[in-house]
Amino acid sequence: MTMSEAAVGGHRQALRRLRTVMAGGGTAQQRLDEIVEVVAAEMAAEVCSVYVARAGELLELFATKGLNPEAVHRTRLRVGEGLVGAVAAQARPLNQTDAQSHPQFSYRPETGEDIYRTFLGVPILRGGRVRGVLVIQNREARRYGEEEVEALELIGVVIAELIAGDALISPVEAISSQGNAILPVRLEGVGICPGLAMGEAVLHMPRVSIPQMFADDAEQEHGRLRDALRSMHGELDDMLASSGFKRPGEHRDILLAHRRFAEDRGWLRRIGEAIDGGLTAEAAVQKVLDDTRARMQQILDPYFGERLADLEALAFRLLHHLTGRRPGARPDVPPESMVLVARTVGPAELLDYDAQRLKALILEEGSATSHVAVVARALGVPVVGRIQGLLARIDQTDPVIVDGDNGQVFVRPGDDVRLTVSNHMAMREKRRAEYAATRGLPACTRDGVRISLNMNAGLLLDLQALEDSGAEGIGLFRTEIPFMVQAEFPGVAPQTELYRRVLRAAGGRPVIFRTLDIGGDKQLPYFRESMDQNPAMGWRSIRVALDRPTLMRQQLRALIAAAAGAGLNVMFPMVAEISEFDAARRILEMEIARARARGRDIPDSVRVGVMIEVPSLMWQLPALLRRVDFVSVGSNDLFQFLFASDRGNPRVAERYDVLSPGSLSLLKQLVAECDDYGVPISLCGEMAGRPIEAMALIAVGFRNISAPAGTIGAVRKMVRSLHAQTLARFVDSLLDLPDHSLRGRLRDFSRDRGTVLDDP
Ligand code: PEP
Ligand code: MG
Repeated sequence: MTMSEAAVGGHRQALRRLRTVMAGGGTAQQRLDEIVEVVAAEMAAEVCSVYVARAGELLELFATKGLNPEAVHRTRLRVGEGLVGAVAAQARPLNQTDAQSHPQFSYRPETGEDIYRTFLGVPILRGGRVRGVLVIQNREARRYGEEEVEALELIGVVIAELIAGDALISPVEAISSQGNAILPVRLEGVGICPGLAMGEAVLHMPRVSIPQMFADDAEQEHGRLRDALRSMHGELDDMLASSGFKRPGEHRDILLAHRRFAEDRGWLRRIGEAIDGGLTAEAAVQKVLDDTRARMQQILDPYFGERLADLEALAFRLLHHLTGRRPGARPDVPPESMVLVARTVGPAELLDYDAQRLKALILEEGSATSHVAVVARALGVPVVGRIQGLLARIDQTDPVIVDGDNGQVFVRPGDDVRLTVSNHMAMREKRRAEYAATRGLPACTRDGVRISLNMNAGLLLDLQALEDSGAEGIGLFRTEIPFMVQAEFPGVAPQTELYRRVLRAAGGRPVIFRTLDIGGDKQLPYFRESMDQNPAMGWRSIRVALDRPTLMRQQLRALIAAAAGAGLNVMFPMVAEISEFDAARRILEMEIARARARGRDIPDSVRVGVMIEVPSLMWQLPALLRRVDFVSVGSNDLFQFLFASDRGNPRVAERYDVLSPGSLSLLKQLVAECDDYGVPISLCGEMAGRPIEAMALIAVGFRNISAPAGTIGAVRKMVRSLHAQTLARFVDSLLDLPDHSLRGRLRDFSRDRGTVLDDP
């Protein structure tokens, strides 16, 4: 028997005794008190203490053998404070022979620990989150060996279960001896989709419940692990061979990464060691995942972030093979109102959740323009992203409030926050009811100017909102969105069917289909051929369409077939020069000719438009306007290029204001030129949906705008309370000012003139 085997054997004995303690009766606190006794005895330590993490980033001494018992529930350290705090902050063991000379040693007189020189602390981990710290100490200077560190980590797994599973700390932390009420957590992130919602946390990849933590027969557990790995490999191979994953693409890459990971020797060795230490196979997989997660989270490198996501998905899969339960991210009975919590989630996965119950989404990653954000917006779901350490601070079933407007999340909110938010939500509900009641009224200003209000859409799901919002039509149908939520390129037939359904749902109201705008922030999972340094300005949109004409031809073929016998409106995005528009139009004409030659029905009329999103078009307007049937300003892109300010980067996205004299002058000039050429102009960027910005658009001459459906009620209300001529004169007088923004002056105008600017 080797040294390490002997040590493992000894620790097995400790685990066995712990198991008896765990199986015994008594309160969680009593069991914790027994655990520290057992561990101190089995590890030949004079001190064994358990610190439990409490809200507010505190570690409280919950049980001790050896330190002053009076210190229990009194001694509290901040995460990062002292050696115990350092273990929690770094989620790593700390093995110190001369504890008091460590720069982070923090002396607490109430504990009487000044006489102990040797310190070994390990984090108590669960779900990648530090739940506490387990410490052993000795008087004499000695060094704990590797095996002791490992054994203590295994014991930490047991304590983690006790902390998570029992009433050691209630979700609201009612047991604090000081009577401190806890301490809801407010997390800050970036508001990705606006709105307010309340619900119960549902983890996108929840913990798999592990029925049994310990096993006596390690050989049997190794065998179970081997069987589960074999069946998981089989599943991965079957998936790779299935049609959905045959093409190259990200989905396939992910599966291949899982397949490779599944054979990673380091990973398998660590699981094997945990089994040797006395855990069941599933507890071992979970422990290795928790350790890795806690360590990797310290590294702010996107590469490691992705590897961690792969490892999590793989461990999740393996656990399902071990426990014999099919993967299913949903709880058995999802709550009526759920807040989905994820590191990251794909658009298709989001659509898998019941849209009626899904109230909000919160993410560790994510950006405003990511695809999942686009889908969430279509679902009307508030989203907050980029919340650091989110998964470490939230548990399944925690009550959560998501404030997408201000990029904040309240976990386990107190009554005051709950009440304030409920009031806000009720107010919004009232407004929504008011908008619904006025949706049939014309969007006409007080001085008789008619404004055409249209909505943006991208999913069939959006189309219901056409009725609800009272929009006149769909001013922008983003055709890439259905592509983004698929596993592979849809062929002509499914596309035709989709466009037909869109037209049917529109019921004769005009729909403007924008051809594929992929690339940039809108990557398709199965189409990632370029690794642009600067994707927004890279190989995207019309550039892809012209370089890969088959894609666009198929799409146009589907649009022509879908609109047969009716009117078809097609619009090309991201055009930077006239030749691109001409080339795209030629493809459209070829497809019409092809359909005609085959005796197919074709649309009664075809109107072809262009999006103005690249500033270069501003200097080609006369030639452009002679060719197009309509234009639509993509202000999201136009202004990011105009100001050289990335729309997806929160540090700069709001640095420049679309209500600056410069931007409004540009828009005014554009409208004037279109009027000269008799070309209808609209604007379909997000600004059209913000009442104050829509008001400015009317001032510079826009009579047609297209906005997210949820904003149309507020915009209609603004229009109906506006005197357009007076505002136009006022704005004209401001366009030469050197101001950063005219927002304040426009707000003053609205206040003085009674123009209603609700928050949409
Ligand atoms: C825009 O750029 O303003 C626009 C409407 O297109 P998208 O947001 O889809 O890029
Ligand atoms: Mg755009």
